Amino acid sequence: MYDQNNIFAKILRKEIACDFVYEDEKVLFFNDINPQAKIHILGIPKLEVIDFGDFILKADENEVKFFFSKVYDIVNKIDLDKDGYKIITNSGINGGQEVPHFHVHILGGEKLNHLR
Ligand code: AMP
Repeated sequence: MYDQNNIFAKILRKEIACDFVYEDEKVLFFNDINPQAKIHILGIPKLEVIDFGDFILKADENEVKFFFSKVYDIVNKIDLDKDGYKIITNSGINGGQEVPHFHVHILGGEKLNHLR
């Protein structure tokens, strides 16, 4: 069950501030508080979904397309396309997911060989 008190839910309700990158009515992007690369942005949909599987099961096709299109917009906006980047989503205990609100990590700005 979705935990209403997870930290990203609090960020979405504006109870906690974030280092904002982009927001609209359906998505929010903000800088990771503990960056693993020169550029480390988190992207979340404004839906109560726990992880990637939950997002795919609960969101409709338009919402899935909208979210990943926005991920690509951010990649383009900050020019990551030129030199490359990684998009990561962690799920569950084996995936090392810490925050139970589906999110993608967008990483770039340097060689990312340490993130295999
Ligand atoms: P994951 O392990 O995929 O759940 O990643 C959670 C990410 O959220 C980690 O990279 C954290 O550094 C990041 N994080 C946790 N709290 C905050 C916060 N308040 N603002 C920005 N990033 C955060």
